[in-house]
Amino acid sequence: MDPVQKDFENLKKKIALYFPDIDWSLLQKAFDLAEKFHRGQKRQSGEAYIHHPIAVTSILADMKMDTATLCVGLLHDLVEDTSISLNDIKNDFGETIAQLVDGLTKISKISFRSSHEKQAENFRKMLLAMAKDVRVVLVKLADRTHNMRTLGICSFDKQTRIAQETLDIYAPLANRLGISWLKIELEDLGLRYAKPETYKKIKKLVDQKKSERQQYIKTISELLHDKLKEFGLEPKITGRAKHFYSIHKKMESRNLSFEEIHDIIAFRMLTKNIAECYEALGIVHSFLKPIPGRFKDYIAMPKNNMYQSLHTTVVGPYGESLEIQMRTQEMHETAEQGIAAHWEYKDGKLDEKDANKFHWLRQMLEDQESMDNPREFIESVKLDLFASDIYVFTPKGEILEFPFGSTPLDFAYSIHTDVGNRCTGAKVNGRMVALKHRLKSGDRIEIITSAQQSPNKDWLKYVKTGRAKAKIRQFVKSKEREQAKVIGRDLLDREFRRHSKSLPKFEKLKDITNQVNLLSFANYEELLISIGYGKSTPEKILLKLFPELQRKEETKADPKEKIDEQDASRDYKGSKSAIKIQGIDGILVRLSKCCSPLPGDEIVGFISRGRGVSVHKVDCARLLELDSNREVFVEWSESAEKFLRDVKLRILCHDKPGIINHLSKVVLDLGVNVRSLNIKANERSKAIGTIDVQVYNKRQLTRCIHSIEKINGIISVERLRD
Ligand code: MN
Repeated sequence: MDPVQKDFENLKKKIALYFPDIDWSLLQKAFDLAEKFHRGQKRQSGEAYIHHPIAVTSILADMKMDTATLCVGLLHDLVEDTSISLNDIKNDFGETIAQLVDGLTKISKISFRSSHEKQAENFRKMLLAMAKDVRVVLVKLADRTHNMRTLGICSFDKQTRIAQETLDIYAPLANRLGISWLKIELEDLGLRYAKPETYKKIKKLVDQKKSERQQYIKTISELLHDKLKEFGLEPKITGRAKHFYSIHKKMESRNLSFEEIHDIIAFRMLTKNIAECYEALGIVHSFLKPIPGRFKDYIAMPKNNMYQSLHTTVVGPYGESLEIQMRTQEMHETAEQGIAAHWEYKDGKLDEKDANKFHWLRQMLEDQESMDNPREFIESVKLDLFASDIYVFTPKGEILEFPFGSTPLDFAYSIHTDVGNRCTGAKVNGRMVALKHRLKSGDRIEIITSAQQSPNKDWLKYVKTGRAKAKIRQFVKSKEREQAKVIGRDLLDREFRRHSKSLPKFEKLKDITNQVNLLSFANYEELLISIGYGKSTPEKILLKLFPELQRKEETKADPKEKIDEQDASRDYKGSKSAIKIQGIDGILVRLSKCCSPLPGDEIVGFISRGRGVSVHKVDCARLLELDSNREVFVEWSESAEKFLRDVKLRILCHDKPGIINHLSKVVLDLGVNVRSLNIKANERSKAIGTIDVQVYNKRQLTRCIHSIEKINGIISVERLRD
């Protein structure tokens, strides 16, 4: 049989298993259209393009989706890539399917790393489309999953970029929707292409210990089974290695490598009902000692992606830590399929009672309306995408969820902006605490406010939620704008006087708006603010307003102006010529030390009066504390790569003889200069340290990191931030 037909037949077989009475003729029609119009198009691998939509639809069938979504899976690239129009789709398949395809077309060209403006815009579109119909994002996730599965064929640069984007956005999104099998696959594929050497190493280690691990799983399962049986319980018990990405995260966060096979195994019990979950837990705790602080009751307090289970960690028979989850069959399905488990595929909609489970999505969209800066928006969305793991109570006993590390301020802002702005502290379980106190699960929080209180910049360091960050920033920004206006008027006034002119008189001019418009400011206020922030100099404004001053200025050189020029010509390592700044010239440029941007990194500039422009990476943590009013658009210039730049790498490795020699040799062989190398052993025969290298651009750094990862004994290498 023709390979395309065969592919489609297999898809139909998969669908028939869960949805035998689907509208087969509509599905056939979608396939025929897609096959006809994609004919002749090839994927990068050389195979016919139509295999991609079929594969995407097959992933949607794994999610047990409805007719419309499956058709959209087949049609999703048509409007983007062929002569088919949205109207054609509407005529042939109706409004719903057309709308879904439209939503996907709008976001299909998402290229998150191209520029942060575009990234934010595309992401906003995705959220909007998703809020209208969550199926859009399910198709998008299926699309991304298939693209990740076939990423091996792409260029190295593309692999790293797509993989990082998958880890940053799509895997957390899958997690937020509760589809854990998809999240796991996206994370593992993401790791495989973002950190290929790390991935290979973990895979090798996991494979090596396989038989040992299976023996251990068998022993523990039997032990648990026998004990529970004494009490008349017979849950299904399984044990398995965690997925690669979570092993990687665990190794990274705890600075360890896994020699102990137990560290990477989790056990699961599937019980008949909820009561049995708690019963099993009690029995386990009665013969294996629980580790304090590790028990979590996600049955009483489900996660916001609907996940339910009991989690506990006990001391196992060999003194090892042993992780066990208890859940019912139904909870298990929700844990695997998330939102898809609650999808009424026959009616093509979500259960009534589950529809409001996606409150966070609406909240995210509401929050973004107050955010005019796209970079801040993306930052806040990324914060909010990561699942919450703290559950706290309001005085009335309602449960609210927060990310780890949240403080009373996050809590206060989640209630209302005004409560946040006026928050002076909180009572946690009846005891007074400070604003930066970290909340713990089960805490009961009562916010204390005062009319005299107002937010300040430091608060940004205390909060974890995107919402609180946005609200504080909004307040601080508007206050700083007011200040900038006052400073700007003061500076302008002085410059007027220096030329024996009167600013108050100028302000009374009837055509003042016209005059400032000519200088390309929307109004007089904007002009003052621009001076106040240091984006415009009063000298230049005056010269433009009164061209006759030009000649006088030429005859008497201003000493102050000269200092400025000197400053600007102090061009550290070509910082100035490396960066192009829109609309401003002759200004001091610094590549900031906190994130040490390299040519190839996405960057953003911040201007401050008298100190020029500092350039940061768009993902630099310090940006959250900077005022986006001061943001200026900056780009790398062609000459940026002529200079060697310093970068710090953090290295975690085994304390093995010769490893440092090996390391410096590998780096030198790449032609990369090592400035310093500083590695210290710690107590667990691991070593941790930093290495300072000099490179011309990001590409060279990425190659260097990959080569280091390859070295036997290296656990992880990370570009260090401040
Ligand atoms: Mn596609």
